[in-house]
Amino acid sequence: MSSSIDHVQQLADLLRKSDNIVAFTGAGISTESGIPDFRSPGGVWSKYQPVEFDDFLRHAEARRQYWTIRRESVPQMLAAKPNAGHHALVELEQRGKLQAVVTQNIDELHQRAGSTRVLELHGTAMQVQCLECDKRWTAAELQPRLEADELELICDACDGIMKSMTVSFGQALSADVLMDSMQRARECDLMIAIGSSLVVYPANEVPATAKRNGAKLVILNREKTPLDSYGDLVIRGEIGQTLSAAVTQLS
Ligand code: NAD
Repeated sequence: MSSSIDHVQQLADLLRKSDNIVAFTGAGISTESGIPDFRSPGGVWSKYQPVEFDDFLRHAEARRQYWTIRRESVPQMLAAKPNAGHHALVELEQRGKLQAVVTQNIDELHQRAGSTRVLELHGTAMQVQCLECDKRWTAAELQPRLEADELELICDACDGIMKSMTVSFGQALSADVLMDSMQRARECDLMIAIGSSLVVYPANEVPATAKRNGAKLVILNREKTPLDSYGDLVIRGEIGQTLSAAVTQLS
């Protein structure tokens, strides 16, 4: 599917007129880097149910399932490279237009592309912490242990339970990150929601809040979203080509 030239021009016009843009991104911006979103066939999520936070805390079996998923998904994220969509957002920041990226993604590809103001609503899968003493590890350094079938990771400093620094279903988001994201949403003049089904609460409150506070709302996603009827511009197209074509028109 491709977005029409007309849509690209409309997006470029909105970008030109705005200087306080916030991008709200979801798993869709990383599929072109080879990281599957929730729905793609063949992705880890088509094989495993995500583990709820309560189950993770209570049951060793749930933790084994959790680390089995990480054993597959972390190498994909480590091997992935930022794509045209991530790079277009970096260029918008460097032109002084984009003030922040609020992301649901846990793959750190925005930061690796060069975005400097990234608010990670759901944390990062690239770091692991002890839930008791807060000792930290990189996901990369723990990967050999997972591959050796060590699927119950216990902190070597205090015997606490270790967990990726992501927000699981049933786990609270960081209040600071959420507050900062909402503040930026209230203040922006243009919110671009990119590659998100916009069904995960409370993250989807970020674009909704921007619209309620007078910002223009652009939705760029392959599929319909529940916020489409509030969008000033809704583009059902591919992210990399659409964003880079629009940003190119700014020069
Ligand atoms: P989602 O999977 O619910 O929705 C992604 C949307 O992107 C879908 O509607 C899909 O049609 C669209 N899409 C995929 N590739 C696209 C492309 N190239 N061009 C245009 N549209 C495209 O993702 P979500 O809304 O982010 O919510 C899922 C949750 O899963 C999030 O909380 C996130 O933390 C987590 N997650 C993160 C990653 C990651 O970090 N890369 C990957 C999978 C899941």
